[in-house]
Amino acid sequence: MQRAHNKASGSFVSLPSGDILVPHGAMIGGAWLATTGVRREVLDPATGDRLAEISDSTAETVGLAIDAARLAFPSWARQSTSARAAQLEAVADAIKMHASSLAEIETLDTGKPLNQSVSDVRIAERYFRYYAHAAEHFFGDSIPTSEGMLVMTQREPYGVVAHITPWNAPISQLARGVAPSLAVGNTVVVKPSELAPLSSLLLAEILRDVLPAGVFNVVPGDGITAGAALASHPRIDHLTFTGSVRTGIAVSTACARNVVATNLELGGKSAAIVFPDADLTAAVKTATGALIRNSGQSCSALTRFIVHRDIAEEFTRLLVHSVEKLRVGPGIDDLEVGPLISETQRQRVFALVEEAVQQGATLLTGGVTAPHAPGLEQGFFAAPTVLGGVTPSMTVASAEVFGPVQCVIVFDDEDEAVRIANGTDYGLAAAVFTSDITVATRMAQALDAGQVQINGFIGAGAEIPFGGVKHSGHGREKGFEALHGYTQLKSIVTHYARG
Ligand code: NAD
Repeated sequence: MQRAHNKASGSFVSLPSGDILVPHGAMIGGAWLATTGVRREVLDPATGDRLAEISDSTAETVGLAIDAARLAFPSWARQSTSARAAQLEAVADAIKMHASSLAEIETLDTGKPLNQSVSDVRIAERYFRYYAHAAEHFFGDSIPTSEGMLVMTQREPYGVVAHITPWNAPISQLARGVAPSLAVGNTVVVKPSELAPLSSLLLAEILRDVLPAGVFNVVPGDGITAGAALASHPRIDHLTFTGSVRTGIAVSTACARNVVATNLELGGKSAAIVFPDADLTAAVKTATGALIRNSGQSCSALTRFIVHRDIAEEFTRLLVHSVEKLRVGPGIDDLEVGPLISETQRQRVFALVEEAVQQGATLLTGGVTAPHAPGLEQGFFAAPTVLGGVTPSMTVASAEVFGPVQCVIVFDDEDEAVRIANGTDYGLAAAVFTSDITVATRMAQALDAGQVQINGFIGAGAEIPFGGVKHSGHGREKGFEALHGYTQLKSIVTHYARG
């Protein structure tokens, strides 16, 4: 293992704003460290061509990153909250300064339309600004007990926090977890997804001189080697995992062996319930939006529209009309819908659509095909799809599709709507469309979800706590809740003599 002083050891990616170099290594202790793991091609989902090459981190590299984070921890944790806030503000400024290249590389790497990457980068900047100052208003309590005792609680950082992130929104998900972790005094080691690691690596380079060495470390690589080494390492103090349920179980099992706390942000099959008195335009816009955002590859995507029988026909007609207007193309062309992340993902989506039709669903638009447009033959494109006549027993009604597929399920009464909505293993987000505040309130209470939105749906917002129930995970990101999640509570009891 040697220090990669020579930045030319890497591969160039051509961006509209200029070429950038992706180093073959890991960011450890403020420097690029050459790694000896597998050389991995990162593909452009819009063409299937090689976009860059990265070098995987070995278990040894991961260990070195944890050592660097551990070394940096005491002095970072000892800094005043305002000193850390100033440095997180500087991180936000650096993200803003490099916003174009971060957004462009995110689009080439994930396939999402450029406007979505621009928005993700803005959200990343916002997380650092929000937590820089939120942490200044975050403190313990004093608890009245009996005379002769002064009881206080104090929030303390864990130490080294590991973050394992997925490929669908790499830069914003990294910032979502890293900003609150750092704000309260932890240091971090991030392992981005091997399918879309480039924005995390570019951010590591951008922040090299912004944060003290060892505070922010990035170890690229796959799950089996780098991810598993991080999750099972005895010297991490906390781990936040964002990804699939299956991997979440493996990661939290590894952490449990070392009694390491976890925050699990897993998958979803989020439902929207549409009542007859709803604003149908808003409901259709939301149902279409679920296919636009990351081509439906979003954990909180509302991909089950449970619609009252009285309006189901009208809703479906408007939805199909809206979805058929969506333009699909390479993310860099900035149309509405980009490609999926990989051929494997596309085949998974197609298989679920095929199975739905075999089980009796009606294919209303789209299907097991790429959109018929020139230039899309090589990429991992899937046509935006609407399935009607879906029933709760069909696989597509309960499995996370993670593609541009919307399901319409019909209901007759409120109890049935709740039963269908709550009838999956997931519980990440939900929405209700109605103009009756009583119905909306009742539904918000009844739905098994970490977040319920009424008459609309937004994914962003640093202030709004987010996380799942049931198999969608545990713990909360965003808002002040995240600051609780990244700290431990100490009770201090002072006994004093009564006067
Ligand atoms: P994934 O579980 O395949 O991979 C996620 C990360 O885990 C990657 O970095 C991967 O390399 C790593 N990994 C894989 N195997 C590992 C192992 N054995 N040990 C340690 N790390 C390992 O998920 P994905 O396909 O990248 O992402 C899609 C999933 O993520 C979907 O289910 C989606 O709903 C979920 N997701 C959830 C949220 C949320 O906030 N709840 C956000 C985005 C995505």
